[in-house]
Amino acid sequence: MDRKLFLEKILNEFENWWTHDPHSSNINFYQNTITASRLASLSNKEFIDFFYGFVSEGGRVQSGGDRTKNKFRNTVQNNIDRFRKYVLKPFRDNFSLKDWFLQLEEYPGFGVGIATIFLNRINHRKYPIMNNKTLKGLSRLGYRISSSKNWTNYKLVKQYQDDLLNDFPTLQNYYKADALNHFLVAVYQGQELISDYLQIDNFENELEQHEIECGAEIDETNKEELYKKLIECENSKSEKITINGKVYKRHNYLMALIKKYRDHKCQFCSTTILKANGAYYIEACHIKPKAEGGKDSFDNILILCPNCHKLFDYGERSNEKKRNATYSITINEKKYKASLK
Ligand SMILES: [Zn+2]
Repeated sequence: MDRKLFLEKILNEFENWWTHDPHSSNINFYQNTITASRLASLSNKEFIDFFYGFVSEGGRVQSGGDRTKNKFRNTVQNNIDRFRKYVLKPFRDNFSLKDWFLQLEEYPGFGVGIATIFLNRINHRKYPIMNNKTLKGLSRLGYRISSSKNWTNYKLVKQYQDDLLNDFPTLQNYYKADALNHFLVAVYQGQELISDYLQIDNFENELEQHEIECGAEIDETNKEELYKKLIECENSKSEKITINGKVYKRHNYLMALIKKYRDHKCQFCSTTILKANGAYYIEACHIKPKAEGGKDSFDNILILCPNCHKLFDYGERSNEKKRNATYSITINEKKYKASLK
């Protein structure tokens, strides 16, 4: 499915959900309480109480504040003058977002998630939110982003949300753009949309890989030649490749080559699956997931049967090692080995 159509479909359903969900009525919840003059007018006790409440209820955006609220109270009680000054900085003209962000670790209990919600509550057209849901949601939409809440990713979050806001003006601001991430990660309807899309996408990739295998005359008996081709493909910068006058995704060409190189055989259990049309079915699995920055590269791909693939995705993993071009891992207390050569 075309990515743009997919996004349009998601945005339509999101818009329906948004109008009925508390997220939309909470958008201006702190409008009168998070202002420079009002915060400055609070006594130290009132100041601590206000932020304790804000952390406990996750700024009415995220949950989990119950776990951090006491840690937070200890932090500010011993440090109230410093915290007051720090947390009022974003209202000043010479505010440096980067410096502020990097100083966050000095305030345990006031982590990146709640701190960026606070910024967003000051100005939802200026500051995006970054919590676990943001990062998961964006990677489900196909953006390349790892799961760490660092400064580099904050800049990426802003860039990606800007792209979305540009393409879909109905999103209006970073608060609503973040509610979209919540919709995709935590709301059943959104999760279903993503999973349907991924299944369609997988199916289309599978068809394309089959077409490449049939059309590209890849000689599977000549392993050396295959290996040369796949390293060449891996190093290519282009996203597309033309075979016999038809354009394919480079990713699919690479996966077709790797599947041939591995004889369409599961690297964990040696299963092969012959389809009625004479082709083989097998899956490609990223050792380091794409969402965490893992690459489409020969040494990051395992060829697995559907069973072993799900075992790898959902089982309890330990002892993961890569040594002498051999990958080994223990899943649910059983050891597996696969060659990366
Ligand atoms: Zn298997």
